[in-house]
Amino acid sequence: MAKLSIRDLELQGKRVFLRADFNVPIEGGEVVEAWRIEATLPTIRYAMERGARVVLASHLGRPKGKRDPKYSLHPVARKLSELLGHDIPLAPDCVGAEVKALVDQLSDGRALLLENLRFHSGEERNDPEFARQLAELADVYVNDAFGAAHRAHASIEGITRFVPVAAAGLLLERELEYLGRLLTRPERPFVVVLGGAKVSDKILVIENLLARADAVLIGGAMAYTFLRARGEDVGASRVESDQLELARKLMTEAQARQVAFLLPVDHVVLERTEGETQTRIVRTEEFPERAIGMDIGPETVRLFAEHIAAARTVFWNGPLGVFEQPPFDRGTMEIARALAESSGVTIVGGGDSLAAIRQAGVVERITHLSTGGGATLEFLAGIELPGVKALTEKA
Ligand code: AMP
Repeated sequence: MAKLSIRDLELQGKRVFLRADFNVPIEGGEVVEAWRIEATLPTIRYAMERGARVVLASHLGRPKGKRDPKYSLHPVARKLSELLGHDIPLAPDCVGAEVKALVDQLSDGRALLLENLRFHSGEERNDPEFARQLAELADVYVNDAFGAAHRAHASIEGITRFVPVAAAGLLLERELEYLGRLLTRPERPFVVVLGGAKVSDKILVIENLLARADAVLIGGAMAYTFLRARGEDVGASRVESDQLELARKLMTEAQARQVAFLLPVDHVVLERTEGETQTRIVRTEEFPERAIGMDIGPETVRLFAEHIAAARTVFWNGPLGVFEQPPFDRGTMEIARALAESSGVTIVGGGDSLAAIRQAGVVERITHLSTGGGATLEFLAGIELPGVKALTEKA
């Protein structure tokens, strides 16, 4: 990696401004899903054990630049204290004299958490003055917030102009290593599985990966736009009519590059007949007129699983069906299990796919769970992430 890592830095006694992604779901004042916090614990522990004075910072939700108790990081501070076995106090704000005094009082090897960065509009505007105020709390800057690295915000980008060094945290470094390998030297065959709602969100990723993958397997609502573009009847399934031309272009390109481009051969559909809704399995060529495709069918699961089993590298993003509504979660769960069975390198990104991996109970059997949604897709689309670009180059 060409960027400086926290492992390259002398941390003893230094104020380490550690930008993390603690944007976690909170209900009734409690963190209900802690994996985003857990993902960055190794970096926090690493810094604390080396005698750094760790200043943790994150955004949470969309408070629109104003203080809003609903978006306080208080529950995160409690969760962090519990997970680290140290009291991690929450500062009353993220900038200002009072916060600076708290940071200056911090002992070596201890950490505190700043209040939500987005309580200030300067964060999302990447306001230089706000970035400078944040930098006043830092001797060195470390970014571990991969999930936010595609945003040029003050705590991600602006701040790096006001600190002597800006390094990647252990999580960010790991993300760049695994995702980077997909783009530079994936072990072959390299199979890409994409699902989810919209083709438009994933065009750039598909384009970029077509140049690198051996097969692209498409499920989810996205598949209906491709099927329609290929001239199939897809009943009342969700189709993005404004993307048909592009879908055709991508399929032509796949053919030219000799990349297998697989669409579902069967479907679990919802069909309303005489006022009653029923679920059934249909083949693509016999798609009923008013049916809605909700999930990939069993034959498609088998076909996709075969490709996954033969792969040495698999990347998966996006559910293969409306997985929030059983029984339409079956395709997604089966694909999660197929990845778990793989002996190759498996990389999964995106909140829904990660949820499916957890639900299937196969977290330990996936090589790398990427913590980014948008950031993962932008990286794989070949876009340089502002948060990565801003880091100091290795000498
Ligand atoms: P995305 O955020 O683009 O990854 O899309 C995720 C969403 O796609 C989930 O909420 C799924 O319910 C939805 N989805 C997946 N398959 C289908 C489908 N066949 N029809 C409608 N929505 C779908």
